[in-house]
Amino acid sequence: MPTFVRTEKCDGCKGQDKTACMYICPHDLMKLDKDGSDTGHAMKSYNQEPEQCWECYSCVKICPQNAIECRHYADVVPLGGSVQPLRGTDSIMWTIKFRNGTMKRFKFPIRTTPEGSIDPYAGKPEADMANIEKPGFFNHDELKGYRSGDPSELICK
Ligand code: SF4
Ligand code: SF4
Repeated sequence: MPTFVRTEKCDGCKGQDKTACMYICPHDLMKLDKDGSDTGHAMKSYNQEPEQCWECYSCVKICPQNAIECRHYADVVPLGGSVQPLRGTDSIMWTIKFRNGTMKRFKFPIRTTPEGSIDPYAGKPEADMANIEKPGFFNHDELKGYRSGDPSELICK
């Protein structure tokens, strides 16, 4: 279920060079159409290659305008139904619209610590960039059982 942008909701992330959806897409699919030459909608983003979409919904979740939606499979949500997440700082709200018009909302916590409080390197040694050029740095024998590669062991030599 690839994503698409509702142009009436998208504000182009207020004209920033890199929009939130462009920043987050792992496949580099979202693009801001600055002058409207691609889509006819200036300063709106769009999914430039839906067939390549990983359907990870990172763009759906990060969009501050709730402007990105999923193209649902016809057998899952047919005839006007929709599933729309809205991410907050500590929770995510899913709005489910059934094809008979019924709406249901589900809210789930997404973290247990305040936003911005995580220290990703806590307890870990700092990276020593001088090591990065050393051959075999990532697979030295003495490091936790890893050993250097042996070309003779390759199946396709
Ligand atoms: S993140 Fe949302 S508001 Fe920002 S450019 Fe993308 S679709 Fe538009
Ligand atoms: S769903 Fe994922 S892969 Fe697809 S456009 Fe959004 S961020 Fe990119």
